[in-house]
Amino acid sequence: MALPLRKLTQTIPDPARIERLADELEEASPQEILAWAFDEFPHGISIATGFGAEGMAIIDMAVRIDPAPDIFFIDTGFLFAETYGLRRQVEERYHITIRAFKPQLTPEAQERLFGARLWGNNPDLCCQIRKLEPLEEALDGLRAWVTAIRRDQTAARATAQAVEWDERWGLVKVNPLVRWSKRDVWDYLRSNDVPFNPLHLRGYPSIGCTHCTRAVREGEDDRAGRWSGREKTECGLHGRTTTEVWIAPVKI
Ligand code: SF4
Repeated sequence: MALPLRKLTQTIPDPARIERLADELEEASPQEILAWAFDEFPHGISIATGFGAEGMAIIDMAVRIDPAPDIFFIDTGFLFAETYGLRRQVEERYHITIRAFKPQLTPEAQERLFGARLWGNNPDLCCQIRKLEPLEEALDGLRAWVTAIRRDQTAARATAQAVEWDERWGLVKVNPLVRWSKRDVWDYLRSNDVPFNPLHLRGYPSIGCTHCTRAVREGEDDRAGRWSGREKTECGLHGRTTTEVWIAPVKI
């Protein structure tokens, strides 16, 4: 099941202009990058969040610039109770609504079609159904999206720019925290009393679905708890997944 080709709803911006902007914003603070993005795209920009520490910093910064920013998350149906609790907490604290995008298939329908534990048998397909297809829907019609990636999180993210053309999804991608370290993020959360997922205090530096996230052990990389024991390191939201293999539905 290949993702349908995305129809571009905008003319691809001049690559030279995007590069120039990225250079200009390289030394800018995350708040300056966000303010630039909101100004550049008064409509058609949305913040994607997974309610991680970085995402919480971005939400806090964003509401100080625009009290009602458009924010969405992908509700795979497999998130931790603490993550759903944090969503409610954030909406109450900042008086905002965070839009949820869900997969077409309920967990039960997915199991009927593909068998139990698809996340174990074919995690790329599971991510495609539960993350990438809802993201496709969330980005439809947008001109730009804001993400919380940092360059030092993974090798694949090391070349991320503050602003770039997102080839995969066909819109501008704004990454205000690219230059920040994990320490910068936590300094910001503490200084501004920003709420965060309590699982971070229980050994979960990076939090995704319950089936594919474990606490990390002493000395392990921050993302070692994601898809632990498998080659997979990314869900595909920010680039290709590791394998993207299609398997046929099981007969029922
Ligand atoms: S992270 Fe795991 S459970 Fe969540 S969508 Fe991907 S494979 Fe499925």
